[in-house]
Amino acid sequence: MCSSTDFRIFSTTRLRFWTLIFLLYCTTLATLLDIDLIAPLYDPGYVFGHRLYCFSATPACLLDTRFEVDMTSESSGHHQPEPVPSTSSAGLDGGPFFEDDGPYVDRHLYTEEVLQRWNLAKVIRKLGTNEQCVAFAEEQGLVSTQKTCRTHRTLMRLAKSTNKSFGSWCCTKGTCKTKSKISRTTGTFFENIKIELVHVFYLMYAFAQKWSYDTVINEDPYKEEKEKCLSRATINDWFNYCRESIVIYQMDKNECVGKIGGPGKIVQIDESKFGKRKYNRGRHIEGHWVLGMIEDGSEDLRLEVCPDNIRSAEVLVPLIKKHVEVGTTIHTDYWRAYDCLAEHGYTHKKVNHSDPDNPFVAEDGTHTQRIESQWRAVKRFFKKDNFNNVENFSDVILEYLWRRNMFKFKKDPFLELINAIKYVYKV
Ligand SMILES: [Zn+2]
Repeated sequence: MCSSTDFRIFSTTRLRFWTLIFLLYCTTLATLLDIDLIAPLYDPGYVFGHRLYCFSATPACLLDTRFEVDMTSESSGHHQPEPVPSTSSAGLDGGPFFEDDGPYVDRHLYTEEVLQRWNLAKVIRKLGTNEQCVAFAEEQGLVSTQKTCRTHRTLMRLAKSTNKSFGSWCCTKGTCKTKSKISRTTGTFFENIKIELVHVFYLMYAFAQKWSYDTVINEDPYKEEKEKCLSRATINDWFNYCRESIVIYQMDKNECVGKIGGPGKIVQIDESKFGKRKYNRGRHIEGHWVLGMIEDGSEDLRLEVCPDNIRSAEVLVPLIKKHVEVGTTIHTDYWRAYDCLAEHGYTHKKVNHSDPDNPFVAEDGTHTQRIESQWRAVKRFFKKDNFNNVENFSDVILEYLWRRNMFKFKKDPFLELINAIKYVYKV
């Protein structure tokens, strides 16, 4: 009895010992080979110590805990965790806000997400023929797949015509027979399309990727086969159609989300001028005043172009009221237009940029550095496009917000564009 117990204890101890040795060996090996043993437990995209690199590798060091990826729902199937803003407010110690153009999604994309993404090769492979494009448009809900005759309340017949890609709807009953057919593109993004569908999808892809006209012309996979190049006018037209869609989509989305701030919350507000300098030297700048607002602990950036290029209280206060909840603590600089904010139900704190001792942070901690860092990002974004020449500056600002959101949440630009088009052109 006694010896048997001894034997068991001895055996367990021996087992524990060798398990410990084995674990030590594994850990040392993993360290030597630089393998993360824990990662595969929560990240399915992490296989054999290799992460899938697919998005521009912006260092995640710019991220702080304000956005956390919810990993708890991972085990429950294919649900992709959405980053949720944490409620903790971040002050200056929350991390450097000076460069604010890193993505929020603090992880590499999962294999599934990578496979869903579009690139040029996929566009050529999946949308390289007219039939593929029609099927894709139907599948994505960009064109109708059935239509009911208003008179007869029956489904109409789809008449395929040789020259039109999408065909037309026609009713074969009674008096309808003599009526003209309704093109399937009427009221859709593809209405009055004058170029081939493969080119339309190629241009949509190019717009989503923010390609320059030169790149669009050079990369055109169909130019040799068709022995002609896309004209700049055509590119311009289709880029404008795409932009129109995302501007409407983005505007409505802003309204849906509602206001930022609220009692106990801080919103930083600043205004900045966008445009070229009129003279090479000197401070005179011709351009547009843009008002920017961002809440501490959130990445919901609001931008508004000041009407008539005025930044008086009459212009700024209504814009602030449109986006910021009453009761919010607002941080601004000493621009006098903000002085009346307290009269409108806000707690107003200021930072004096011309204070020689500390031009960035007031004694009570008031600062506007996050919103100011946004300006650098916005200006850098538009540098190549020369935003000074863009006719409708407000549209470009909305386009920026759309692209920023896509980048921050690592969304696929092409699919997001299709979503916006679907939103605008309901079929
Ligand atoms: Zn009919």
